[in-house]
This record gives sequence, structure tokens and C-alpha cells, in this order.
Amino acid sequence: MKPFGYLRPTSVAEAVRAGAGHPGARFLGGGTNLVDLMKLGVESPGLLVDVSRLPLDRMTRTDDGGLRIGATVRNSDLAAHPDVRSGYPALSQALLAGASGQLRNTATTGGNLLQRTRCPYFQDVSKPCNKRVPGSGCPAREGAHRDLAVLGHSQDCVATNPSDMAVALAALDATVQLHGPEGERTVPVTDFHRLPGDNPDQDTVIRPGELITEVVLPPPPDGSVSLYRKARDRASYAFALASVAAVLSVRDGRVDRVSLAFGGLAHRPWRARVAEDLLRGVPTTGDAFARAVDAELDAARPLRDNAFKVGLARRMAVGALVELTSRAVPA
Ligand SMILES: Cc1cc2nc3c(=O)[nH]c(=O)nc-3n(C[C@H](O)[C@H](O)[C@H](O)COP(=O)(O)OP(=O)(O)OC[C@H]3O[C@@H](n4cnc5c(N)ncnc54)[C@H](O)[C@@H]3O)c2cc1C
Ligand code: SF4
Repeated sequence: MKPFGYLRPTSVAEAVRAGAGHPGARFLGGGTNLVDLMKLGVESPGLLVDVSRLPLDRMTRTDDGGLRIGATVRNSDLAAHPDVRSGYPALSQALLAGASGQLRNTATTGGNLLQRTRCPYFQDVSKPCNKRVPGSGCPAREGAHRDLAVLGHSQDCVATNPSDMAVALAALDATVQLHGPEGERTVPVTDFHRLPGDNPDQDTVIRPGELITEVVLPPPPDGSVSLYRKARDRASYAFALASVAAVLSVRDGRVDRVSLAFGGLAHRPWRARVAEDLLRGVPTTGDAFARAVDAELDAARPLRDNAFKVGLARRMAVGALVELTSRAVPA
């Protein structure tokens, strides 16, 4: 590991000043991803700005009944919070489906959103990788890509976003609050992560020196139920091959409100807008769900070894909607 500076600011303003003042600076949340990447030589920041002691570790209700989650709230605390378990079960389930108890006790909300892809070439500095070294190539496209993207990928990168939490936040219409050298701004989680295009080195729309200060959840829609399901190679401690977060409310036997997001399929949590548009107002039958999900997954462009993900995601999404229908409170 290369030598680096270390700062532990006590205010957001001080953290942003430090981050913006050093081009090679990185914010340090729980360190469970960043420090691993430093050990591998993938990241070599000149300065670590440790944000874990900033006053961003609280969760509070918003005036309209939503939830404000500080960026340094630990994944375990977020998953266990009574307001999350009762109002946003998909989020609690997504967090608990990720990593291990020890990691979740350390990992933070901000760090989870910004964790890097687990593409094996990205993590191996002896191999080319456009995300790590722009212009060096993408060996995954012809190489080991069983775990990688089927939707929204490009010639230059076929990586997936690894976060379970972000998929639930995308389905729940959460927003990210950012504080940077030019002030504050709010970005919907669905617009926060990028598709790779021809510059896959940019995972998100975050600007240099910007700090995530909080994530805000709107109030859960009246009468809605939600869930998160994840398929992986092992029962625990593995990233998603495919995952789905769904929020549903039913009125008179028809879909009233629905949101659906996939994980493990793309460079970002994939909000299934095509399926959602087709689902609104349809009878809550397996056939209607399957037609809508098929229309969404029509956009899939699997690679040589990962076509299985499309069928897997389809079965998971239809199963999730059927299960939620059986639990929905009839309105
Ligand atoms: C063995 C293993 C298995 C795992 N399995 C899963 C899994 O199944 N599902 C899953 O979702 N995750 C999994 N993870 C990933 C884990 O959830 C992430 O490492 C963790 O959430 C990152 O949070 P952190 O606070 O430790 O981030 P850090 O490592 O501190 O930071 C990650 C990135 O975020 C930046 N950052 C941190 N906080 C902020 C902030 N407030 N503002 C701006 N930038 C910030 C850092 O600069 C860095 O670039 C696994 C990790 C390991 C090691
Ligand atoms: S898929 Fe993306 S992260 Fe993986 S080798 Fe290709 S460019 Fe790098």
C-alpha cells in the first residue's frame, strides 16, 4: 500500500473543503470496500478524509412522514430500524441479504452506494480494464462474464453494480443528498448510478469533492407492500446474480401502484419503467405480470455465458409480484 495522509474532520464543511482541496482525496466511510481496493493497488488515494465521525449517523422522520438517513448510518442499524422494518421492508431485506454481519456493522449508507464493481478484472491490476485505466480495454466481454451485465452494457464495459441496498432504494424512490464545493444538490437514486457508455470509469454522477450527506425516503405509499429477493451462488456472503425489489398496492383486484427494480443485471440498479407502465391497472394475475416483465427484459443483450440471468430475473420478478399480491391489503 502506498503512503497516504489521514484527516478526521468534525464538520461537513471541513470534510468537503478537505476533499475538494486534495485531488487525490477519498472519503472513508466504513472502509470495507475502499481499504480492500487500496490493498489490491486499485485505489491509491493521497489523502483519506474519514467521515465516520461526522454528525451524519442519525435517522429522523421527515415532515411528510418519510425517512432521512444519515450517510454514516451503519447498514446493520438501518436494516434493524423499526421504521424501516415496518414501512420499507424491501430495504431491510436488501441490506440483510448483503455481505456478513461483521461487514454490515461497519459499512455505511454512503459507502454502500459508492462501492465499486466486483468484476474480477477491475480488481486485478495485472489485467487491462477500462473502468480502472480508461482506454486499456475490457477483457470481460470475451472472458469471464458469467456474473456480469445483460442490460445497458456497452462495448467498453459489461460490469454490474454490486449494491443490494441501492436496488431497494431505487424501487422506493429514494433521493441522495450531496454536499460539494459548489453547494448542495439532490439526485434521485435512479439517476445516481450511470450506464457505462464510453466512459465506464465514472460509476455515478457524483462530482469531484462531493460528499453524500444523507439518503431520503418518501413516505411509503398508502396500502403498499414491498419485498426484496436475491439469487446468488451461495446462501450467504455472495453478490447477486439477479435480484428484485418490488413495491405494490392493489385496488379492486388490479394493480394500483407498482415499482420494480432489478439488481445484478446492469451497471446500475435497473428500474423497470417499461414493465411498470404495462402493469398499472392490469388484473393481478401471473400472466399479466409475466407479459409486463417480458417486455422489460426484451431489452436484455446477454453475453456468451450469462443468458441464464434473463430467465432467472423474469421468474424472480413475477414471483415477487404474485407474492406481494397475496399480501396486499385490498382497497
Ligand atoms: C466479502 C464482502 C462481501 C460483500 N457482500 C456484499 C453483498 O452481498 N451485497 C452488497 O450490497 N454489498 C456487499 N459487500 C460490500 C459492502 O456492502 C460494502 O463494502 C460497503 O457497503 C461499503 O461501505 P463502507 O462504508 O465500508 O464504504 P467505504 O469502503 O468506506 O467507501 C466506499 C466508497 O464510498 C466512498 N464514500 C464513503 N462514504 C462516502 C460519503 N459519505 N460521501 C461520498 N463518498 C463516500 C469512498 O470514498 C469509497 O470510494 C461486501 C463486501 C465484502 C468485503
Ligand atoms: S467489465 Fe468493466 S470493470 Fe470489468 S474489465 Fe470490462 S471495463 Fe473493466
